[in-house]
Amino acid sequence: MYKAIVIGTGPSGLTAAIYLARANLKPLVIEGPEPGGQLTTTTEVENFPGFPEGILGPELMANMRKQAERFGAEFKTGWVNSVDLSQRPFKLQVEGMGELVAESIIISTGASAKLLGITNEKESMGRGVSTCATCDGFFFRGKKIIVVGGGDSAMEEANFLTRFATEVKLVHRRNELRASKIMQDRARENGKITWGLNRTPLEVISGDKGVTGLKVKNNETGEEEILETDGIFVAIGHKPNTDFLAGQITTDELGYIIVKPGTTMTNVEGVFACGDVQDSKYRQAITAAGSGCMAALEAEKFLDGHMVHDWSKTL
Ligand code: NAP
Repeated sequence: MYKAIVIGTGPSGLTAAIYLARANLKPLVIEGPEPGGQLTTTTEVENFPGFPEGILGPELMANMRKQAERFGAEFKTGWVNSVDLSQRPFKLQVEGMGELVAESIIISTGASAKLLGITNEKESMGRGVSTCATCDGFFFRGKKIIVVGGGDSAMEEANFLTRFATEVKLVHRRNELRASKIMQDRARENGKITWGLNRTPLEVISGDKGVTGLKVKNNETGEEEILETDGIFVAIGHKPNTDFLAGQITTDELGYIIVKPGTTMTNVEGVFACGDVQDSKYRQAITAAGSGCMAALEAEKFLDGHMVHDWSKTL
């Protein structure tokens, strides 16, 4: 039995853990298969305030974890298979740990950027392949970039990346774009953007110094081509990690948790959501951390006077 269980260890979950631990609520933090979250798949983080020289993503996350541990947060590694939020205390079924019980839950399971699933893509993450233009665009000043995708995200990222790159080629598997007209028009009007439509990505080509090209299939001719580039941004959408909730928490049609505006409260009293799992718009480490702080403060306020377990007999 825990007063608060935090599910997920990205910037939002770890910030929530720091605040809960400092409020003496002894949170249990459950780490999934990607401890530290999306920031551990990037290299240098230059936009997190407080680090004028930048900091490596994995190092930033390791620091946040240490900070939470210092104040008494407990960490366990496991996969949350399912939850029962129908009554308090809430129940969680966790792989390898059995059933855990909690007075309150903070969901910070994030969202995962979808990948293409092509050869050498995963191996090149952080070495020329990225899923975040805001995070990594700066490293491609004066270079050639490919953005893969045909939706609004791809248009937005391509436009953004023209601030740094000499050329941004939009590679999309079909001739028609999925993006809204306004976003398409903006991309078409940008002189630095070139188009590689009707091309299906097949393989990331890299050498000693990182990515050098993207092998694609030209769907008109059926032939394979290598498009030369210094970097590849995969912008084919994100998937919020909410499957384990099995519909017990209200989400939008894409699966993002809906919170009461201006708060981290979900439709279930005592269950809070923070970070990318409830944010398809900003998706930044700093906004995630901020919402993690909000979730902890709201959980703390909720627990004050709402406990179902008699904690007076527990040390
Ligand atoms: P999306 O609309 O689902 O578009 C994903 C794109 O990636 C599609 O063009 C899709 O191709 C392509 N794709 C998917 N899987 C692929 C694969 N395995 N290989 C190659 N291509 C693949 O996702 P999104 O662009 O991230 O947008 C998500 C939501 O956020 C949308 O509702 C969007 O309007 C919104 N959004 C809005 C803004 C804005 O208004 N400023 C900015 C970003 C996002 P197909 O077209 O062939 O399926």
